[in-house]
Amino acid sequence: MSNLIQSVRGMNDCLPDVTDTWQAFEAIVRDWLRRYGYREMRTPILEHTGLFKRAIGEVTDIVEKEMYTFVDELNGESLALRPEGTASSVRAVIQHNLLYDGGKRLWYTGPMFRHERPQKGRYRQFHQVGVEALGFAGPDVDAELIVMCADLWRALGIAPTLQLNTLGDYESRQRHRAKLIAYFEAHQDVLDEDSKRRLHSNPLRILDSKNPAMQALNDAAPKLMDELDDAALTHFDALQGLLRANGIAYEINPRLVRGLDYYNRTVFEWVTDQLGAQGTVCAGGRYDGLIGQLGGKPAPAAGFAMGIERLLSLMEVAGTPLETAVPDAYIVHAGEAAQAFAWQVASALRAANLSTILHCGGGSFKSQMKKADASRARYAVIIGDDEAAAQQVTLKPLRGTAEQTRVEVALAIEYLKKA
Ligand code: ATP
Ligand code: MG
Repeated sequence: MSNLIQSVRGMNDCLPDVTDTWQAFEAIVRDWLRRYGYREMRTPILEHTGLFKRAIGEVTDIVEKEMYTFVDELNGESLALRPEGTASSVRAVIQHNLLYDGGKRLWYTGPMFRHERPQKGRYRQFHQVGVEALGFAGPDVDAELIVMCADLWRALGIAPTLQLNTLGDYESRQRHRAKLIAYFEAHQDVLDEDSKRRLHSNPLRILDSKNPAMQALNDAAPKLMDELDDAALTHFDALQGLLRANGIAYEINPRLVRGLDYYNRTVFEWVTDQLGAQGTVCAGGRYDGLIGQLGGKPAPAAGFAMGIERLLSLMEVAGTPLETAVPDAYIVHAGEAAQAFAWQVASALRAANLSTILHCGGGSFKSQMKKADASRARYAVIIGDDEAAAQQVTLKPLRGTAEQTRVEVALAIEYLKKA
């Protein structure tokens, strides 16, 4: 066994039973996005490293220490596995001039990669569903994004709570930044190593520190809220008005700054206390500067991303049932004539949209029936030489207490569709 190659640490296989659950989840999500008029976009998993450096920011956890970056040996280019989806979405929107005729409502889903310490709810390959509303200045679209999240939580049978904040605009952030630097410089002795390094490059991120020793210092730090200008405050007020009008409860958390640099004005997180330390299931906000920062014609934008693994865990805690599909029929057959007829029956059942497994590999009826049971199918469709001669099948329910019956194929199909 020592030469067995295992999967990469922090990257999980999704076996069929689990995949069934994921597909049921994805079906709910797709339908939800369709109802809000959002359209799916698919971008490559690999991008130029520079895209993420420019979009997410050089002095962020992701770019500094979590990104899978490598040099393509064939041409010397630096590439990265995408750590999130917004940078790629915005890159594609600019590259294909998608905003030429107005705003776009887009979404994506797929694997993201971050070199983090694996633990429950934190993986090196994880999956997100992301939603981006590009070209809308808000605050109505900010409210739409939040209201649609609340709608999805209802469909998933979960109830995370909403934390909300505003980061204001560029000028007020600069004013706040200057005050923060002065404040932290005056308290150098309390700063940890990470914070010292960020003091001049990204002091706002010091507030994001999870180090308990830094909490008191951070609590007393100058507040961005005190620097906000009227336009940002009006935006924030209007958003809150829309949320209240739509019955969305929220808590304003002035400490919420988000780990990515591109946000301005609205930021929000949906959090739960039911998943231990990994309590944020969805996070997002406004990023009006990003399109311009990536070389596009400046346009406002907002969006969010949710972690599928964390949402599925939360649904498990909440006990939300997810309907997963089982095969309708497992066809067992013995004898040459029976086998030829079994192929015809299988094809008729499948044409009628029934999920049908045709037994392969021969063997006795008894051993085939065992396989039928193990397949989770609702019915065994039994075909012996008698049935083949009469062009009929015997239907045997594998669940419940109904009797077995022998019928024509057309009737069997009707029966299977109803039952
Ligand atoms: P955290 O503070 O938990 O590291 P984050 O701020 O880095 O989260 P975002 O970049 O905002 O996360 O990603 C959006 C969502 O994706 C998160 O709220 C979370 O649900 C999920 N997520 C992020 N990183 C991981 C990971 N390594 N494993 C599983 N899910 C993740
Ligand atoms: Mg993180």
